[in-house]
Amino acid sequence: MILDLGGFIIFMKALLVNPWITDFAAYDFWLKPLGLLYVGAYLKRMGFEVHLIDLLNRHDPQLKKYVNVPKDKFYRTGKFPHLEINKPDVLSFMPRIYKRYGAPDKYFLDKLAKIGEVDIILVTSTLTYWYPGYWKTIEFLNNYYEKKVPIIFGGFYVRNLPSHAKKAKAVIFSGNDLNRLPRILEQLLNKNFKCENIDWFEELDPAYDLYSKDSKVGYLVFTTTIGCPYKCTYCIAHRMWNGMRFRTVKKVVDSIEKFAEMFQVKDIVFFDDAILVNSKNHFNLILKEIISRNLKLNFHLPNGIHAKLVNEETVELMKEANFKTIKLGYETTGELQLKTGGKVIDRDLINAARIFRKFGFTEKEVSAYIMVNIPGQKVKDVVEAMKICKNEGIDFSINEFTPIIGTDDWIDLINQGKLTGMEDPVLLNNTVLPFWWKYGMNSDVIQYLKSIARKIKEGGAVADIERIFE
Ligand code: SF4
Repeated sequence: MILDLGGFIIFMKALLVNPWITDFAAYDFWLKPLGLLYVGAYLKRMGFEVHLIDLLNRHDPQLKKYVNVPKDKFYRTGKFPHLEINKPDVLSFMPRIYKRYGAPDKYFLDKLAKIGEVDIILVTSTLTYWYPGYWKTIEFLNNYYEKKVPIIFGGFYVRNLPSHAKKAKAVIFSGNDLNRLPRILEQLLNKNFKCENIDWFEELDPAYDLYSKDSKVGYLVFTTTIGCPYKCTYCIAHRMWNGMRFRTVKKVVDSIEKFAEMFQVKDIVFFDDAILVNSKNHFNLILKEIISRNLKLNFHLPNGIHAKLVNEETVELMKEANFKTIKLGYETTGELQLKTGGKVIDRDLINAARIFRKFGFTEKEVSAYIMVNIPGQKVKDVVEAMKICKNEGIDFSINEFTPIIGTDDWIDLINQGKLTGMEDPVLLNNTVLPFWWKYGMNSDVIQYLKSIARKIKEGGAVADIERIFE
């Protein structure tokens, strides 16, 4: 029920859709459509009746009736069900099978039929190179509703590449302030809504309650802050928000407790970009609150925390609160550490690893992300980073670099003539890049580095292999 400006009661129904994604490989490493859930909370507050279809929710028990759902791996993560599809023409050179990840068409159709007529649809997005999946979802919805229901398209891809996203035949929402939504809705629905600006990040919980009562979510994702004060050349996060915001500690922990109870989940994931900033007044207090409420949950930090900001007080509290997955953003050794923004140097990583070890964490819980193929990176920078992790008793994982559109690295590569800036986003998929881009490590070198990684993890010597690339 919504009161319009004339004081009349109107009923409006909104459908939120977390779309399919398309890639050569994809894994549910705790992916929840957090932004879309905030949109849901905002619309509910406006008075909309809100429905959600999450095509990537592997834990919906209904899904098993339609498709074979791969079993969970660690802490409720796992593989998505998928459908093999034709590659976009621009990817025809790729020697891999292209897939659409997420629920099958029939699941989508049955959910739509159950929800019935709606007034407005909102579709979200994340990685830019998954856009064919988003477009297919919007096409599916336009066919189902015969283009009679307006679709608002938002999320990271849309914010990052609005002119490209416009081709999806939906109305673009390229901002990140939800207070802009009512004006867009007024135009599309031809109504006048009575709405005041709200501090939505502080006031609203992500609307997990939109997952129906008989649905399961597997795990819950939250962010306690938005923004990041660092300015790494390969990252876009600092350009997404103006400054940093911290949600009140009590609200953060209330929200965790409420939804963990509602869905009976054990695994809580923080997806902050910079959760350790000002930890004395923020993260440490959250940890103390979790401990004092004796929540008995598993906590995970998969988003590369800042080694520079790790300290004994925080780590001791993390141990007590039961953190099970801690990823440190390391990326590389060598001169690129400072050239790419200086968020971490070797000494920070070593110091952080030692603190985690001191408080009883092992390589099972703590690992570092190492990036491969950063412009100007040498093979030995990668191998050295792996060795330091091994020596310090933490695990590591290799991530392939990709020039994210709008980052300093992307701009520099265009200025150097190494990218045109007009590449189809699917070509900037980190799996695809080494197969066509002449200015970095090719796919053979990357495969070789992965084999070195395996060898180092097993405790093998790597001196001979390093020499091959020098
Ligand atoms: S990589 Fe991490 S530290 Fe650097 S700008 Fe991005 S979020 Fe911030």
